[in-house]
Amino acid sequence: MKKLLILSGKGGTGKTTTAAAFIDFSKARAFADCDVDAPNLHLVAGIESEPRRMDYYGSEKAVIDQTKCIGCGACYKNCRFDAIIKAGTKFSVNPYACEGCGVCMYTCPADAVTMEEDIAGELMLYQEERLFSTAKLKMGRGTSGKLVTEVKNKLEYATATAELAIIDGSPGIGCPVIASISGVDMVLVVTEPSLSGISDMKRILRTAEIFQTRTAVCVNKFDTCVENTEEIEKLCLHEGIPFVGRIPYDKKASDAINAGHSLAKVNCPARDALHQVFENVMEVFAESK
Ligand code: SF4
Ligand code: SF4
Repeated sequence: MKKLLILSGKGGTGKTTTAAAFIDFSKARAFADCDVDAPNLHLVAGIESEPRRMDYYGSEKAVIDQTKCIGCGACYKNCRFDAIIKAGTKFSVNPYACEGCGVCMYTCPADAVTMEEDIAGELMLYQEERLFSTAKLKMGRGTSGKLVTEVKNKLEYATATAELAIIDGSPGIGCPVIASISGVDMVLVVTEPSLSGISDMKRILRTAEIFQTRTAVCVNKFDTCVENTEEIEKLCLHEGIPFVGRIPYDKKASDAINAGHSLAKVNCPARDALHQVFENVMEVFAESK
């Protein structure tokens, strides 16, 4: 199965819109949303069924047994993450701050601390005639990279026979993005022609280079700054990165997305430009086989 990952340096660039449209253009039987902090591909991908839900366990968290605690404060003094809350003589753990290091358990003289598995999120697998893998991380949990890997594994195991999988990545270049890039065949970077867009794009391209993953670039809302679009094209040419198209700003596209429709199903210039980007990406994909 070939995996195409769609990334952008920041949210709101058109990454999920592109992913949803590519799913329709390619009639992909397998796709995933790896933006586990804020998944929203399901809103525009026409998913109607109920998913199979699975708990995702992150790192362990400390729990204090109040019936055993003698209030000595050793855990409070030794926790370097300030995760122990002191209220008078009572001590408890803030699960959002606890890093699961276990120091409080080892330093407690009353054996009052245990380490317990923490449900850090939820994996969801939609199995219609198409397969959709996604997940949601609970607020304040920090194991998003591991959860992204789980989302991809579920996709891979459940759809080994699908030819192409479209993966919507997370914004930025942090841990979940690195986990998203690992093992994919190509990354399409959707960028905007702003200075921050160019800077974010360069950072993603460097990250993908480290993984020796093929990349391509397209510009969304290119007409908001044609000069910067041209600069992006020049940069791609210079670096030998395929530039696969420009998508214009289109009010009809914004309206469709706000209504939860895939851009592939809307008759407008942005849809036509995005379809051309899709064809160009497939050509680059074919060349790299
Ligand atoms: S496990 Fe570590 S981080 Fe969590 S409360 Fe105990 S000492 Fe602090
Ligand atoms: S170290 Fe143990 S006994 Fe002391 S305050 Fe913490 S939980 Fe209570």
